[in-house]
Amino acid sequence: MKRMHWKISLHGGHSSEYCDHAQDPLPALVAAAVDAGISIYGITEHAPRFKTEHMYSEELALGWTPEILLNKFRRYAQELDSLSRIWDSKITLLKAFEAEVIPCDSYADKMLSLKRELGFDYIVGSVHYVNGISIDYTRALFGEAVQRCGSLENLCVAYFQTVRNMAEALRPEVLGHFDLIRKMAGNTSELQSAPVLRAAENALHSIREIGCIIDINTSPLRKGFACPYPAPHFLKMIREKGIPVCFGDDSHSAAEVGAGFETARQYLIDHGIRELSALNKKSGKMEKETVLLQ
Ligand SMILES: [Zn+2]
Ligand SMILES: [Zn+2]
Repeated sequence: MKRMHWKISLHGGHSSEYCDHAQDPLPALVAAAVDAGISIYGITEHAPRFKTEHMYSEELALGWTPEILLNKFRRYAQELDSLSRIWDSKITLLKAFEAEVIPCDSYADKMLSLKRELGFDYIVGSVHYVNGISIDYTRALFGEAVQRCGSLENLCVAYFQTVRNMAEALRPEVLGHFDLIRKMAGNTSELQSAPVLRAAENALHSIREIGCIIDINTSPLRKGFACPYPAPHFLKMIREKGIPVCFGDDSHSAAEVGAGFETARQYLIDHGIRELSALNKKSGKMEKETVLLQ
């Protein structure tokens, strides 16, 4: 019997065969999700990137090319189909991916056609690049991104403008780590300045119109931060706008599957949020489903 428990993750399950900065193979992550009592596990591998400059350094070091990434991604879709069949009686696995380079000429169209062609259930829309520079990978690249924008505050504004553009271009079902810029920026006062809050508010306005679920992403808890993404002042805006939320472990290893969910649940309750909006598959169709946190 499948249980509809509040332990649901719509963002995570990065695995070593398909992601070179992940640690364990996909079957190990699925087994960990079953062990953790997760009821719905959305697996969201990074989408292939089509330009060498958007590839991670470890991918380049391994000699990968955009063509190789695309082939690996096709194999990922196939393996996920067979794992879903194998584990069907224990857990609902959703087949998804994380799109991450927007804006970029025709990138959104490529993502949407991959979704159709390979039969994915949904997309997590994330922003990992601002003006083409990665903002969450290395300190050096983050410094470059700040320099390109002229100041940390300008970069934060540009980040949230990019989140908005991405959401409008891609219309993803799930919006990944809303304030990922915090990973390198820290809990800086710039993230609460009027221009940054305005840009974040504008992004949230679009996110609500589009109907995205916001990822309550527990990865910061593993990196020494006190709370998940998004931070309390953004979570308050999300609650006031009535935007739905759901957990994402953003796991890159079996040990990270479901990690931090108890803390994240308490974080939501403490901020007046008492339910999740999950995605679920009913007779082959995706639906949103409300799940109580208590
Ligand atoms: Zn990753
Ligand atoms: Zn991400």
